[in-house]
Amino acid sequence: MKREKWTDEDFVSREFNEKFQYDGKDLGVHCGDEGTVFKVWSPFANKVELRLYRDDTSGVWMTRELQQEEKGVWGTRFRENLHGVYYDYLVEENGRQVVTGDPYAVGCGCNGKRSMAVELRRTNPVGFETDVAPLPQEEQIIYELHIKDFSYDQQSGVPENYRGKYKAFTIETSNGAYPTCMEYLKGLGVTHVQLLPFFDYGSVDEAGDEKQYNWGYDPVNYNVPEGSYATDVTDGTVRIRECKEMIQAFHANGMRVVMDVVYNHTYREDSWFQRMAPGYYYRHREDGSLFDGSACGNDVAAGRAMVDNYIADSVMYWAKEYHVDGFRFDLMGLLPVELMNRIRRELDEEFGPGEKLLYGEPWSADHSPMEEGKRAAVKKNSSYLDKGVGFFCDDTRDLIKGDAFHGEEPGIVNGAEGLEDSLLHAVTGWRDGGADYRPVSCAQIINYVSAHDNFTLWDKLVLSMCDEPEYLERKEKLVVANKLAAFMYFTCQGMLFMQAGEEFGRTKFGEENSYRSAPEINMLKWHRTVEFADLVDYYKGLIRLRKKLPGLCDKSSSAANRIFGRKIYGEGIFSFQVDNRTVGGDDEWEELFVIYNVSDKLCHVALSEGSWEILADGRETDCRRIPVQTPKGVPVEARSGMLLGRRASVSGKEVSKQTVLGA
Ligand code: CA
Repeated sequence: MKREKWTDEDFVSREFNEKFQYDGKDLGVHCGDEGTVFKVWSPFANKVELRLYRDDTSGVWMTRELQQEEKGVWGTRFRENLHGVYYDYLVEENGRQVVTGDPYAVGCGCNGKRSMAVELRRTNPVGFETDVAPLPQEEQIIYELHIKDFSYDQQSGVPENYRGKYKAFTIETSNGAYPTCMEYLKGLGVTHVQLLPFFDYGSVDEAGDEKQYNWGYDPVNYNVPEGSYATDVTDGTVRIRECKEMIQAFHANGMRVVMDVVYNHTYREDSWFQRMAPGYYYRHREDGSLFDGSACGNDVAAGRAMVDNYIADSVMYWAKEYHVDGFRFDLMGLLPVELMNRIRRELDEEFGPGEKLLYGEPWSADHSPMEEGKRAAVKKNSSYLDKGVGFFCDDTRDLIKGDAFHGEEPGIVNGAEGLEDSLLHAVTGWRDGGADYRPVSCAQIINYVSAHDNFTLWDKLVLSMCDEPEYLERKEKLVVANKLAAFMYFTCQGMLFMQAGEEFGRTKFGEENSYRSAPEINMLKWHRTVEFADLVDYYKGLIRLRKKLPGLCDKSSSAANRIFGRKIYGEGIFSFQVDNRTVGGDDEWEELFVIYNVSDKLCHVALSEGSWEILADGRETDCRRIPVQTPKGVPVEARSGMLLGRRASVSGKEVSKQTVLGA
């Protein structure tokens, strides 16, 4: 079949799919004692030759022509177990020959150039077969982390040969003075760690020095871990084993792992995809040029049958083989709703409903068309997305701390006025209106104020609140604003997400796009955990407290009904109440009262009848204090929040079991 026959439109035609859609799960290489099977999907090829290598650097050891099978698949079988053998393919199409790695490879050599046959069970670290994720907790609190950022700092307490590597997560760490790395992290209380891309990416030379840095949004081998985080790239099994060890270590320390995945584009158009099936995997304009909705040069054509199969199978592979507990889709808006819902369904079928987290960025960088009849997984289409497909809520983010792209523009914690009403909608995850979209549940909403993109929260506060930016200096008014920002999103319904180091004033010295800046700019500077110990404690308390508040953790579609009694007292002073009861639960506090005072004056707010306790205020979180009652009410300090709980009365408890919401 000549490729010239097919256009982008044809790729989704019934004719094409009848001829070439392959739904088998055996693409790639599978090896074991029963032999080794190679299979690739290369629909336009006239001939496909397999080339084997004894290692990553030597010349061709052996070649073999693949047999053409059904639906564009080519394959061959060896009786031997070829574990550890490297390979690539010579694909011939209309007289043109091209060498390519295997898009379905599960192993590769240095810089991902040669694929590697791997018998996966041999890469399991000790105990991996019995590795299980920690039990789900009351809330999902996600901590976004880059592997190199974690341990690059000399103060990290990690030995030099492990710094910036998968291995850094597997050791007990302390620098002698205070807890760092995993020791620090397990004390924080977050339930999930979301790791920036750790599939094999192209921007860092794996044979190069440690000073290189990239976030890793430039995929090369989707189903292989990145090599620059491994201690040895000369043996392709090391990166696999060490990546598994990292995930195992997170599980052992009580955290689940979310993988940041980038299926929306590839490092270069000249990818294994393109070499295997020219044109098929990318979106083209009429003039033949590539769409660039990713702003990275190309858009993978999600929505086409074999692309969707690839993405869904890849997600399933990481979940099964590496025990990954969730997936964060980069530029999810470039993928169709139908694909995201399919992945949700497949994950649920395999692992149980909701067991794996699934969420993404509900936008794209630029326009890119969906295939006919498909909807982009963007915010305005949230009602078509499954309840279990979440997305980052930039509305709440910008409301709290100001526009993400313009450093000086304030949000509610750093000087903007008139946003009280909006924030009282944000607390329901925008379920009760107030936004130009309507999530099907607050389960879809990820509340956050900082992520790897744009300014760190600290830098944003510096830029918006200081005349002269001075990033390293601790200024109390910034700490106060930081605590208020945290208090605000921790009192919103939905999932919670934070950038690593937000809790200790992380600075990147005002750099808003540090994707390839020096590791010294990006790394977590561990001494700041001491300098900002009060802020760290403030976050720790919020994390602990949040898990005790079913009224805020509720992810049911009726969760918004728990929010009532919204009130604006005056400029910058406002509050709401939360029905905190659960069915048959041991409800310590039947009602919550959340007060925000973003004004610069102390205020007083009257409490209703009952036995109230302060559970958090501007200074302390997860506390239990009896409020000081004055004739005017309870005093709330300037620029702070207060969360109170009303203790359940015995008789009230009986009633609550019958009338409780969300049942
Ligand atoms: Ca790489």
